[in-house]
Amino acid sequence: MGRRRSRRKPAPKTKLVEPLPQNFPCPFCNHEKSCEVKMDRARSVGAIKCNVCMEEFQTTINYLSEAVDVYSDWVDACEKENACFG
Ligand SMILES: [Zn+2]
Repeated sequence: MGRRRSRRKPAPKTKLVEPLPQNFPCPFCNHEKSCEVKMDRARSVGAIKCNVCMEEFQTTINYLSEAVDVYSDWVDACEKENACFG
């Protein structure tokens, strides 16, 4: 006996995911979803800008970085700045 498993089509490794808009709440003006991230992977720069108060921030990214990493870098930098103001 020993029926062989029927061959299946190989499952696609990457799911087709709709590119979600990478919008985050602004740590400056507290507007929701006002901050837009742009990942410039060719230059390893992640930029985020708030469309409401026009605050912007840039950080270095690598091939593993996600938009949320740029955002959390920004929030970290804000917290450090605020700490300086005391
Ligand atoms: Zn803002």
